[in-house]
Amino acid sequence: TTVPQIRIADGVTIPQLGFGVYQVPPEETRDAVSMALEVGYRHIDTAQMYGNEQGVGDALKDSGLSRDEVFVTSKLNNGFHRRDDALRAAEASVERLGGPMDLFLIHWPLPTIDVDYLETWQAMIEIRDAGLTRAIGVSNFQVPHLERIIAETGVKPAVNQIEVHPYLTNETVRAYNAAQGIATEAWSPIAQGQVLGDPTISAIAERVGRTTAQVTLRWHIQRGDIVFPKSVTRSRVEENFRLFDFELTDDDIQAIAALNKDHRTGPDPDTFAYIP
Ligand code: NAD
Repeated sequence: TTVPQIRIADGVTIPQLGFGVYQVPPEETRDAVSMALEVGYRHIDTAQMYGNEQGVGDALKDSGLSRDEVFVTSKLNNGFHRRDDALRAAEASVERLGGPMDLFLIHWPLPTIDVDYLETWQAMIEIRDAGLTRAIGVSNFQVPHLERIIAETGVKPAVNQIEVHPYLTNETVRAYNAAQGIATEAWSPIAQGQVLGDPTISAIAERVGRTTAQVTLRWHIQRGDIVFPKSVTRSRVEENFRLFDFELTDDDIQAIAALNKDHRTGPDPDTFAYIP
């Protein structure tokens, strides 16, 4: 039951399974993260937009674990895409989290707003060089967005965190990530619960004696993606951690991938322009 480590940048490895805290209320985050650390998770995915970085930082402090034992990701909020704002916002995250980040991402490309995401990516490089984070990456970047920042800076993101689940396999972006050596992180890996009643996944789950959540998460793991399912219910947090003592066949992997219907649970990255 050891979680595999994936190498994402020079000297930086990330546990392939983590704990996501999107929609965990700020006042519950300290307890939820403490519980996940007790269960054995050593990778937490938060964001400035979630408003709960302080709870993550408090739980890390409470845990008695040293900072290099837990991998912490945060994401730059949409209102901070200008260079100076991005640097200040990164410093504030480090303060709330109680130390440098392991991974810091541009949360959304926002290609239609009046700040060019290239300026934001150049700021991310400065943020890394200043030691505020060990690695930098992006989230919700489409292929043209990736092509542009790589061509203009020569610096590849360590990861691209995108929506991926059986109903949105997102193969075009995954393939580009793979070709560039960019790790894919799959957000909403169980489509916020929408895939859990799927008949194909249920049949496989019955055969291997696991839940549909476990089968879906195992599918991501065997495809090589990084996942961090969210739950605040201890039994589910434990269930989602037990993925390393069973295996799916290649046919299972393909049957689940064939469920794709390009169905997004979240916004379209090409048009999303929300600024909190
Ligand atoms: P998810 O696919 O992890 O699903 C979470 C939902 O499924 C919750 O309602 C939970 O109660 C339920 N659930 C979890 N485990 C279960 C189980 N074993 N059995 C039954 N139900 C279960 O969705 P998510 O929270 O949207 O995504 C996971 C993480 O991805 C987030 O917490 C966040 O860290 C990240 N994320 C990133 C972005 C982005 O734009 N970068 C967007 C959304 C989510």
